[in-house]
Amino acid sequence: MKRCKYIFVTGGVLSGVGKGITAASMGAILKAKGYKVTMQKCDPYLNVDAGLLNPVEHGECFVTHDGVETDLDLGHYERFLDFETSKYSITLSGSIYKELIERERAGGFKGKTVQLVPHFTDLVQEKIALASKDSDIHIVEIGGTVGDYEGLPFIEAIRLFANKVGRRNCLYLSVVYVPWINTSKELKTKPAQNALKDLRGFGIIPDIVCVRTEKPCSRSICEKIAAFSGISSDAVVNLPDINSVYDVPFNVLKSGVLQILNDFVGDEKVPDMSKWADFSAWRATDFDKTITIGLVAKYVGNEDTYICVTEALKAAAAHNHVNLELKWINAEDLENESAEKMLKDLDGIVVPGGFGTRGVEGKIKAAEYALLNDLPYLGLCLGMQVACIAAARNGGVKDANSEEFGATEKSENNVIYIMDDQKGKEQTGGTMRLGDYPAKLKRGTLTADIYREGVEKGIYTYGTKVLKNGDVNVVERHRHRYEVNQKFLPEIRKGGLEISGTSPDGKLVEFVEAPGKKFFVATQAHPEFKSRPLAVHPLFYQFIKSIKNI
Ligand code: GLN
Repeated sequence: MKRCKYIFVTGGVLSGVGKGITAASMGAILKAKGYKVTMQKCDPYLNVDAGLLNPVEHGECFVTHDGVETDLDLGHYERFLDFETSKYSITLSGSIYKELIERERAGGFKGKTVQLVPHFTDLVQEKIALASKDSDIHIVEIGGTVGDYEGLPFIEAIRLFANKVGRRNCLYLSVVYVPWINTSKELKTKPAQNALKDLRGFGIIPDIVCVRTEKPCSRSICEKIAAFSGISSDAVVNLPDINSVYDVPFNVLKSGVLQILNDFVGDEKVPDMSKWADFSAWRATDFDKTITIGLVAKYVGNEDTYICVTEALKAAAAHNHVNLELKWINAEDLENESAEKMLKDLDGIVVPGGFGTRGVEGKIKAAEYALLNDLPYLGLCLGMQVACIAAARNGGVKDANSEEFGATEKSENNVIYIMDDQKGKEQTGGTMRLGDYPAKLKRGTLTADIYREGVEKGIYTYGTKVLKNGDVNVVERHRHRYEVNQKFLPEIRKGGLEISGTSPDGKLVEFVEAPGKKFFVATQAHPEFKSRPLAVHPLFYQFIKSIKNI
């Protein structure tokens, strides 16, 4: 194992108070000091992965390059640290139990009793070691709060880990919440004190305590927590709520944590946060121009469900120096309403990924409206499938549909059909076409030009290769079961769409575009997973840019 240092992040009092963002912000600072930083989430759920979790409750399902369905925290890690997470970046209790039980069934424990300690805790430590391979600093976030029954083996594992790599190579960070009590007009530190007492009871004394509050709190609050918890008062810092998550790294820098991080890594180099500062300033600027984008979706109003899409759009707007107004268009409402009425005031629409029949006719209607009225359109996964259905209907297949939404294998109209190896697996987890797949883009198409420009301007690469002969090859992440049925290409073309990218063997349609339109590009992939605030995905960047230039 390469000499790596570890930061373990736990939470007290409440979950959902920004533990992941705090951890990722520290990662961004350390990266800006020149280190290779990676992150990992340990979540005490019994689920094996996040693929079957309800997106309304859990937010977006994020997909790693190697095809693991995880939760949205990994998306934050990628955005803050600009690295690609992998199957090692997520460790759920369910996957640990599954591996242990499979090993036990196969006789791998040679008659031994299999226990939480040491077997579960050892396996978690193995996963941490694997995830941190080749990193200078590896940050591990433990989901939930300290004291939750199901999280205890993870706390024990991270305590034991210090015995393995040396306590001085580990930094324990605890994020606690201090509530404001409106009736007595005071901040209450007791829950935080209790949380830190619990953590101490499990053998961990944190090196940094981040006190999360709604408004900035007085130093005496941090000092009180320090005094009652036996922690140096310099190590207890306040991180009040702020407007944008991308300002958290600056809040962390202001808090005094940098000195602790410097001592931990053993260097005083000033982090170069200039790009973050630019980005954060653009986000805060009120530009002259505002672009209104409609997000045609099923789960409207819950940004977490489409967080990578909204983050990619916001970043694209910031880099184009325009304000972004996001309008949620309920796909089901659109089914019974005039598209003209619901979409005419928009500058562009995005149809993101989705599953199931609900609202899909509304999405097809949106794609059709965009195609016929030259309204800029960006289609992501299902957004490409509905665009092809709309084009095929437009091109003469009046009842064009997907096998997912009513067409059958024998139908005359299954413009989107199921791949052979996906048949019968609709209700199961981890069985889709998942993770990175390559595509080759057709020379001379807008899609190819967009990716080429991204590379040539040094904004974005992530697997994109511009070849000497002008061809552009890309790699994007996928999460889907259905594909375009190429039998219908003549009608799709007649309806206004061209294929602009396919799998290298030409069998699968990966990108389509509408030639001659202002901007109509759709992909079977999920480019939003690879967009970062400081390296915006070119499809999002050019979508906003083309609207800005209209
Ligand atoms: N439901 C479609 C499929 O499985 C699209 C999936 C998606 O948008 N992620 O192919």
